[in-house]
Amino acid sequence: MRLIDEVSDAASVAISGHIRPDGDCVGSVMGLYLYLKKELPKAEIDIYLDKPADIFDCISHIEDIKSEFNTNKIYDVFFVLDCEDDRLGNAHPLFESARKRINIDHHISNKGCGDVRIVEPDRSSTAELLYDLMRPEMIDIEVATALYIGIIHDTGVLRYSNTSPRTLQIASELIKFGFNFSDIIQKTFYEKTYVQTQIMGRAVLESVRFMHNRCIVSMVSRRMMDFYQVTPQDLDGIVNQLLAVKGVECAIFMYETGTLEYKVSMRSDGKVDVAAVAMRFGGGGHVRAAGCTMNGTYHDNINNLAIGIAEQLDLA
Ligand code: 5GP
Ligand code: MN
Repeated sequence: MRLIDEVSDAASVAISGHIRPDGDCVGSVMGLYLYLKKELPKAEIDIYLDKPADIFDCISHIEDIKSEFNTNKIYDVFFVLDCEDDRLGNAHPLFESARKRINIDHHISNKGCGDVRIVEPDRSSTAELLYDLMRPEMIDIEVATALYIGIIHDTGVLRYSNTSPRTLQIASELIKFGFNFSDIIQKTFYEKTYVQTQIMGRAVLESVRFMHNRCIVSMVSRRMMDFYQVTPQDLDGIVNQLLAVKGVECAIFMYETGTLEYKVSMRSDGKVDVAAVAMRFGGGGHVRAAGCTMNGTYHDNINNLAIGIAEQLDLA
């Protein structure tokens, strides 16, 4: 399937992704936007997304993202990237009213939504999948940069097991455009502000291991976030750091989003399917990286997650 065949007669297109967009979501949405601007120069193309973290300012035209939503508009085509429609947030009414809805994603937990559903869980990232739907001759350095950022963020810089030979081939095609990939990796993936480093240190310091040290958990409260003056975006990477502890097979990190409400991130080395655990609580993701939102006290939430994990580790 080629993307252009699905949108060639569209006069208006909207592109959106999930709430709290991560690198793959931002890279995919922007990559598709920049690509469609070339394919459909006469069409009106809008992007609806929560404001991305400042690290993504290196993506060209990132300022075109609309975070205020005019929900009365009816688009010819609406793209849902890197999620299904339940995580669109305020953009959901635009999805509902669009004439044609296209879903492109790689989450195993995604059942697919809309009229055209391209969900390939074997893909490292939505950005990788998008590359293979694009006409190579229409990709330029700006599109390539955005897609590359998507790929490196969902693969931990081509390191996680979701990295396939095809992922590396595409990454190699993309870096031929000549952007400074080393700088992009450093500035968008590894570099942390001082407060980001401080709160990560605090979360690691207060982490607790359980289930014979095979699991680890840590939490950041609202008070801690206020104290360090950090936002949820500043907490990215903490859960991966917890999983890096020797012997740990499953890491849980949560931060308080409201009274008795926590956003949960889980990572696994492969033995535990954390998407299956997250789906029990209305979330989803991938086998090795998943998340959900939970209500209840911190300790009740750990206990409830632990039941699903223990079953898979044969400890139940
Ligand atoms: P993270 O822990 O980095 O927020 O998310 C890890 C993976 O799980 C990502 O692929 C993300 O899209 C997915 N994920 C995180 N939270 C949720 C959620 O509440 N619902 C669903 N369906 N997926 C989630
Ligand atoms: Mn993704």
